[in-house]
Amino acid sequence: MSIKILLDKCTGCGLCIKACPFNAITIEDKKARIDLDKCNLCGACVDVCRLKAIELVKAAPARGGFSGKSQDVWVFCEQKKGEIQSISWELLGKGRELADKLKTKLCAVLLGHNVKTKTPEIFSRGADKVYLVDSPALANYQNEPYTVALVRLIEKYRPEIFLCGATTTGRSLVSRVAVKIDTGLTADCTGLDIDPKDRLLLQTRPAFGGNIMATIITPNHRPQMATVRHKVMKEAEAGQDRSGEVVEEVIDESLLASRSKLLDIVEEIEATVNLAEADIIVSGGRGVGGPENFKMLEELALALGGAVGASRAAVDADWMPYSHQVGQTGKTVCPKLYIACGISGQIQHLIGMQSSKTIVAINKDPEAPIFKIATYGIVDDLFKVVPLLTKRFKESSKK
Ligand code: FAD
Repeated sequence: MSIKILLDKCTGCGLCIKACPFNAITIEDKKARIDLDKCNLCGACVDVCRLKAIELVKAAPARGGFSGKSQDVWVFCEQKKGEIQSISWELLGKGRELADKLKTKLCAVLLGHNVKTKTPEIFSRGADKVYLVDSPALANYQNEPYTVALVRLIEKYRPEIFLCGATTTGRSLVSRVAVKIDTGLTADCTGLDIDPKDRLLLQTRPAFGGNIMATIITPNHRPQMATVRHKVMKEAEAGQDRSGEVVEEVIDESLLASRSKLLDIVEEIEATVNLAEADIIVSGGRGVGGPENFKMLEELALALGGAVGASRAAVDADWMPYSHQVGQTGKTVCPKLYIACGISGQIQHLIGMQSSKTIVAINKDPEAPIFKIATYGIVDDLFKVVPLLTKRFKESSKK
């Protein structure tokens, strides 16, 4: 987009100065002048100018990506060491719903080596078709060969929608692909739907520090690409009696070369708990008061066979490592039981745990926002309640 003053029409009345939220307009020699370093092309000045002396030229739509015919909903099935990651089942669940609304096919993309044996499971989770690229160069995730393979598939088969997990791999991969094919990408979505009127993908995600939920659309470019957080969508049911078509794409090995060399894969040592997979989580916030008191939460988690989580306040204070953080900038969890101890319940924390099946909140402030979403609330001192709960659960597990 570009903006300019039509000098023959401008009288220097100054109405545009008042309308500009960015102080980007001044009057020089009785003519308005726009400082393009400050202007963000919002168009507020255009609307107030009675003489139509300001011209905002919008970019032509569909510059990049591909316009015209595109079809099908695609899901990237992420594999590690040949095993499909559970985020893929969540995406297939949502993908099926979107494809049905659009009356189109649900297709999966599988990149790896010796992974064809995994395709029946992908069909049994709802896919109609699997695009497979099998090559030793794709055995483990590497940015360059994965990007080449995915760009090739997208340009050749033109999906309408492309979904990928907001995992470390997914985030790295699809941002590169979106740039290569010049389309939009909405990261970290927590909701996806279809606008029935114009078949657009409605991509919902927290914005402005989690204070609002924004719904983003990609009207001019295809595919509409989104990454989705783990544990936000429901997994597609396993074992459905279905089969489908496998499209095997052969890509010349020379095109799958990588400038980086994978030496070794080292599992994260610090992550002793896999929060994202835990059925029970005991989480602590600033109210826990210090790193030494997290021991008390660990004992409760141990008695319940669960894991320990933390709010960002506790992580920022160095009471717990980042791998335990739950929330917008931490992990999204969906356990059967989430016990929040000394956590106020700010929106950025709730985003990461609100779909837990049962939420128990322990907080001495009866007005704490966490109680609004809690299944059970205990208004009391956590230093009194947590040891009592641990004692009770230990006793009942002995019986
Ligand atoms: P506080 O809000 O200080 O709450 C402490 C609570 O403990 C209070 O309700 C108090 O009543 C209670 N309490 C104190 N003593 C006791 C006691 N003895 N017994 C019982 N209750 C007690 N936060 C996250 O958690 N995860 C995120 O991923 C995250 N991402 C963010 C991203 C952005 C962009 C921003 C701006 C913020 C983010 N935050 C995140 C921070 C979030 O806004 C809150 O600041 C944070 O969640 C507060 O943590 P808290 O509830 O532990 O602390």
